[in-house]
Amino acid sequence: MKALYDFFSLIYPVNCPACGKAIAKGETLLCTICRYELPETGYHKVQQNPVVQKFYGRIKFEFAFSYLHFHKSGIVQAILHQYKYRNQPEIGEKLGEWFALDILDSFSPIPWDVIIPIPLHRSNEKKRGYNQSNYFAAGLSGILGIPWSDKAVIRTMKSETQTHKSKMERWKNVKDIFEASDAALINSKHILLVDDVITTGATLESCGQMLLDAGAAKVSIATLATAR
Ligand SMILES: [Zn+2]
Repeated sequence: MKALYDFFSLIYPVNCPACGKAIAKGETLLCTICRYELPETGYHKVQQNPVVQKFYGRIKFEFAFSYLHFHKSGIVQAILHQYKYRNQPEIGEKLGEWFALDILDSFSPIPWDVIIPIPLHRSNEKKRGYNQSNYFAAGLSGILGIPWSDKAVIRTMKSETQTHKSKMERWKNVKDIFEASDAALINSKHILLVDDVITTGATLESCGQMLLDAGAAKVSIATLATAR
């Protein structure tokens, strides 16, 4: 039993990424308290939810939802920081699995053909060592029983930081930065596009529009978290 515990300690962090407490036997990824306090949105159960509303008048996503509420300096922010920057991408995979189990309760049959993570620009992926969204996609894929691919879309340009830009400037900044690279994965497919946090939604809008223009039948989006 100890060997098994040690094995899993290698895969998942030994400290809760939300509060820093040591993870006890029988807990996975988060300590029991943080797991209980995880601010789930439940948006996948509501067709007209705040994530859908973000895109009114911009793009028609078939379904749009996020797993968690993101608050600055909240536990989701702490978890996502470990996931993105501290070389612990498996956090995203576990959260993807938990989210997918909830999604399975609300969608039958599963309406999507393929899961596509928003790609990073190659130079950013090299710097970080991985695209965190691939792990979230893999977690969803395993439970939902549909394939995921990071070969369908490439990011051709680096976008600049969005923080000090107006809505219009943000849109211009990410317009035309994605390209379809495998038509067979896109054409006539209902695509579930995934990303980590939605803020303005400009990146998802841009990539989603490109997929529709490239022949996708429908595009839905699922993100790990959504900011107000
Ligand atoms: Zn904790």
